[in-house]
Amino acid sequence: MEGSRILLRDSTDPAIFRAAVWGRVFNACRDLSRVPFAVCKARTVADIVAAVELAKAKICRVSVRAGGHSWAAWSVRQDAVLIDVENLDLDLGRDRIDYDDKTNIVSCPPGITGRMLNEFLATVNRMFAGGHCPDVGLGGFLLQGGMGWNCKNWGWACESVVAIDVVTTDGKQLLCNTTEHPDLFWAARGAGPGFPAIVTRFYLKTRPLLQMWQNLYIFPISEYKKVLQWEIEIAPTVDPDTEMVGVSSFIPLTDGKEAELTILANFTTFKPSLKEATVALAPIHAAVPSGAKISVFCQPTSFEKEYAQQIKTYPQGWRYCSDNAYISPNCTDIVGVLEESFSGLVGQKSCALWFSMNPRSMRDHKGEEMALSMQSDHYFALYTVWEDEKDDQKYQGWVADMMKKVERYSVGSYLGDADFRVRRTKFWSAEVGEKLREVRRKWDPEGRICGFLDEGDKSGVNGLRNDFEWEGS
Ligand SMILES: Cc1cc2nc3c(=O)[nH]c(=O)nc-3n(C[C@H](O)[C@H](O)[C@H](O)COP(=O)(O)OP(=O)(O)OC[C@H]3O[C@@H](n4cnc5c(N)ncnc54)[C@H](O)[C@@H]3O)c2cc1C
Repeated sequence: MEGSRILLRDSTDPAIFRAAVWGRVFNACRDLSRVPFAVCKARTVADIVAAVELAKAKICRVSVRAGGHSWAAWSVRQDAVLIDVENLDLDLGRDRIDYDDKTNIVSCPPGITGRMLNEFLATVNRMFAGGHCPDVGLGGFLLQGGMGWNCKNWGWACESVVAIDVVTTDGKQLLCNTTEHPDLFWAARGAGPGFPAIVTRFYLKTRPLLQMWQNLYIFPISEYKKVLQWEIEIAPTVDPDTEMVGVSSFIPLTDGKEAELTILANFTTFKPSLKEATVALAPIHAAVPSGAKISVFCQPTSFEKEYAQQIKTYPQGWRYCSDNAYISPNCTDIVGVLEESFSGLVGQKSCALWFSMNPRSMRDHKGEEMALSMQSDHYFALYTVWEDEKDDQKYQGWVADMMKKVERYSVGSYLGDADFRVRRTKFWSAEVGEKLREVRRKWDPEGRICGFLDEGDKSGVNGLRNDFEWEGS
């Protein structure tokens, strides 16, 4: 449309339109048959309202993109008006991110990434426990819950959201919090892509800026059982400012040698001083099992270093398939259940991950305060990475096989690393799943917002079934 920020499929140069549709999608494994009706590169809230009006006039759906990092490219939908909020509020300049030093609340538009926010907050001696990947957008990350830094102890990133500004499907601009439109605010913390409005600003609690230190132990994969069992056993008693992860991946264990499959145990602590970090990390170091080929104690690190490592681990332009499961507290042999995934990893750049969620996982699961209601002590995820399209089936097939074996030991999954086209599972408690359906019907009765991308993109107003496929239909 002339003079506006909306590109229409039928009147835009195809190369320009394709770049607007796919240019900011992280995963190179894409379903190119999905072609939106239009793309709106919104710079103002008025642009978003105009895009919603266009969708209504043309009887189209609306999709939203913040950071473009959803694995299955949820923002790209057939015949939808895609609202890309990357540049929202850019014209505000420095005020695009706004910090109030009386309340320690920061507000920002949803296209801001974890790295952008933490770079800004560092200037005022604060931080936000955003995603580990620097370039994930706050929009997608916070709506689905947000497994951020030290989530195990500090809780989900969405628990730091105190309010949101939204544009509704009838073009109204609203502030939502615990007293104003509390049902929308509730849904904004755990509905993920099923959120029935468009967030234009998040208001977030921040934390005092801390420094980071790390213990790191890398073992040959033959030590997998011993290492993961040890991590599982110590998780509930590890220092409360320390996150911990177990990862299998290919790493060279000796200089100049080829990468081999390893099991890595990593502990990152956030403390004001080296002295406190040493106190937190020393008991772990004293208890580490024998056999580590690489052993690092209390090494200083930083957001910059960790973000750089994430970019190396998950490079742009590659093809990805991920899936995940929360392993049930009733599972008596977690190490055994995950063994095939960890030790049979396909692809030199892939990884299998166990992320401790204890003790946060022990707190309420009822979903009264927020829609996020699915978790367990043990988060398991697979991230396979490859370059060539001809290998799609090999990697996707392997992930599907592994998940088939693991899912019966799970209580459900996290939206953020899931692809609803591939596997049906639970993402909320049963009550929350029902309430979410009601909230979606109330705020978006026509199914204007695309919502969940399931097989054939049919979920519409009903949303996801929130049940296990293997339990029968
Ligand atoms: C390399 C990599 C690392 C990751 N690391 C982590 C991690 O450490 N922790 C974690 O929890 N997750 C992680 N993820 C998962 C990631 O958080 C999710 O895929 C998330 O949905 C991406 O958000 P986005 O805004 O970048 O993606 P997008 O694809 O832009 O957005 C995803 C969907 O969210 C909804 N949405 C986004 N913005 C809005 C809005 N303003 N209003 C309404 N709806 C909106 C839309 O439905 C949109 O399609 C990672 C993903 C990748 C690729």
